[in-house]
Amino acid sequence: MREEAETASPEIPEHDPEAGAPGIVTIDLDALIANYCYLRKLAEPAECAAVVKADAYGLGIAKVAPALWGAGCRTFYVATLKEACSLRDLLPDATIYVFDGLMPGTAAIFEAANIRPVLNSAEEIREWAAHCRSAGKPLPAGIHIDSGMNRLGLPEAEIEAVASEPALFDALELSLVMSHLACSDMPDHPKNEAQRARFDALRKRLPHAPASLANSGGIMLGAGYHFDQVRPGIALYGGQPAEDAEHRFETVVTLESRILQVRTSPAGDTIGYGATRHIDTPARIATIACGYADGISWVLSAGDGKPPLNAFLGDYPAPIMGRVSMDLITLDVTGVPEELARRGALVELIGPRVPLELIADFASTVNYEILTNLCRRAARRYVGGKS
Ligand SMILES: *Cc1c(COP(=O)(O)O)cnc(C)c1O
Repeated sequence: MREEAETASPEIPEHDPEAGAPGIVTIDLDALIANYCYLRKLAEPAECAAVVKADAYGLGIAKVAPALWGAGCRTFYVATLKEACSLRDLLPDATIYVFDGLMPGTAAIFEAANIRPVLNSAEEIREWAAHCRSAGKPLPAGIHIDSGMNRLGLPEAEIEAVASEPALFDALELSLVMSHLACSDMPDHPKNEAQRARFDALRKRLPHAPASLANSGGIMLGAGYHFDQVRPGIALYGGQPAEDAEHRFETVVTLESRILQVRTSPAGDTIGYGATRHIDTPARIATIACGYADGISWVLSAGDGKPPLNAFLGDYPAPIMGRVSMDLITLDVTGVPEELARRGALVELIGPRVPLELIADFASTVNYEILTNLCRRAARRYVGGKS
């Protein structure tokens, strides 16, 4: 019955699922693969894994992970066990690690789905070793060393403690030692080298295993940070991992939204909630079908005196005017030719002309959050990826 109701919708013809969509998110899998290949080459001879947590940073793990697998990626990282189980269904032969590590009582699930926890404490290591003993075989797992982030992982004292219990490492198979950088987006920050040196020293107190330190930003810091394996996320998805970097990663995500209505508003009036934006001269205002519920933050609201973010109609900028609503944004299209700024036309809100970093700056956040907030209401279009 539900299926019938869905296909019977008269407004949305079957041949064009995007016709009634308020917006379109386009995800360019060729650009994703180009970014992966760039990082892999840079990190050689280290292995290039991929971080696909949080639904591949909001892009859709069901498309992203198989595309990366097709490009030769064999090791994947997610945050949670649930994410790992979904990924296992997509990629039966991939090596999968879970950053969150071992929650009490979940070891059997890891084993059954052939998923590896990244063990974050001596307690987790002991629990995994105990599970291996009862399973009668050493099962692979990674260990996270805290090199100065103070978030997850074993501090030095715990490394000492487990290193003095060799039986633990007879029971389990140590397949990875890793750590994470706090300041890789700031290449000149002294904490980078401090963490690199600390990781290198601490890992040698554990039995030998492949080592991994670098996220996207870490890869750009140079070969000394690559060790045996690198773990990029944001750069794969077109985010720039550091300010002022020479290399520009290819744009993977574009968000376009449709114009619902265009009006000319009289001088002296105000636009939108709170009447925060006054107009001095008559202005043409386009209202688009996108708002903070679609991931375009309320913080991007542009009242009087606040420099607005520009959306784009072709090459023409269309500044945000007034408050961002839940479902709507008002743009000044006075300077845009009328044939472009018309009902039904698509406006670029994220993409080649509006980089993630620019929106993140305006919204006082990071490019990561712009991606993970990407709207679920817009239609999704995947292009490329048939290599
Ligand atoms: C998210 C994450 C990464 C990937 O970081 P990017 O900055 O997106 O490249 C790597 N390692 C760990 C531990 C992470 O949590």
